[in-house]
Amino acid sequence: MTIQFSNHMAEIVAIRRHLHQYPELGLSEFNTSDFIAGELTELGYRVTRGLGQTGLVATLKNGTGNRSVGIRADIDALPIEEETGVEYASKNKGLMHACGHDGHTAMLLGAAKILAERKNFDGTIHLIFQPAEENFGGAKLMIDDGLFERFPCDAVFGLHNDPSLPFGQIGVKEGPMMAAVDECRLIVNGRGGHGAEPQDTSDPIVCGASIIMALQTIASRNIHPLDPTVVTVGAFHAGMASNVIPERAEMKVTIRSFDPNVRDELERRIRMIAEGQAASYGMSVTIDYKRGYEATINHKAETDFVRDLARRVVGADKVVDLPRPSMGSEDFAYMLAERPGSYFLLGTRRTDNDPPLHHPRFDFNDDALPIGTGFWVELAEAYLPAR
Ligand SMILES: [Zn+2]
Ligand SMILES: [Zn+2]
Repeated sequence: MTIQFSNHMAEIVAIRRHLHQYPELGLSEFNTSDFIAGELTELGYRVTRGLGQTGLVATLKNGTGNRSVGIRADIDALPIEEETGVEYASKNKGLMHACGHDGHTAMLLGAAKILAERKNFDGTIHLIFQPAEENFGGAKLMIDDGLFERFPCDAVFGLHNDPSLPFGQIGVKEGPMMAAVDECRLIVNGRGGHGAEPQDTSDPIVCGASIIMALQTIASRNIHPLDPTVVTVGAFHAGMASNVIPERAEMKVTIRSFDPNVRDELERRIRMIAEGQAASYGMSVTIDYKRGYEATINHKAETDFVRDLARRVVGADKVVDLPRPSMGSEDFAYMLAERPGSYFLLGTRRTDNDPPLHHPRFDFNDDALPIGTGFWVELAEAYLPAR
């Protein structure tokens, strides 16, 4: 790392821990947004609020160049009761920064400070603080509010901390990076009755079990083996007692894919299987199918830029080309569908047994703050070189 900013590190750690103490859910990041705006206004950024409700963009111009770059941090937390036991644990009951967005926000605020201090770039930097990554697609909401018309960006970049990657490693990948996500709720409508008199009922549990088993054949029998696909039934609720056949059974399914044609085929097959299985048992099924985030697809030139820069900044031995995309999803997908850019991972592993993201004992690794902060500074300055 060429940039020295150890004088800022205590402050950036304090910011991260402050954010950690006051987590807010997507589109309710009111105090978080106030806090970020306060910090940035002080630094001389032009702050525009209210994009995607609680989102904001901080703009800093320097020199005469007309190039521009966007860097995004997500700012929302999750409905999880924290169990870390750290002294800066969440003070907002039932809410927690369990995905490290507190770290993402702190790193971008840290970079904002250093970029404003150094003024070693020529062009325009837009720092995009995005709400609701976890639930409501804040990236899409900001775009719908004119993000890229009001703040034109030649390219956009985003990162996520990853406790499964070795500490300090930067993981890049050209092309498919994160999957598209859809979800589906299935309700089998049966006819309840006495558990000892099944012949007088239509048992939705047996029908639901058949549907669940048949859904397993989509990935194995319908989709090309080289097209990554997941169909997971994550919830199956029916009945209360051993001797009562319930009226209905409910299933919740998450569906992941990359190729838009595969995505359509998955929906078609899920509907066909659910309806066909239910009909074979003389029952009906209610299907509520919702399309979620698009697949996150990294652009080649911008990914090459991140890889080359990372090799210079953290060292070639710490930069990996990820062998395969993640089946997780990310609403940065919408930004990459609008503008060239790249989304990459920053390794934050402490031990071989770290709690994963979204775990009640997850806590962003503060030792990674200097790396992420420094990397954003280097990225902005390299993308908009001073004359
Ligand atoms: Zn998350
Ligand atoms: Zn996240």
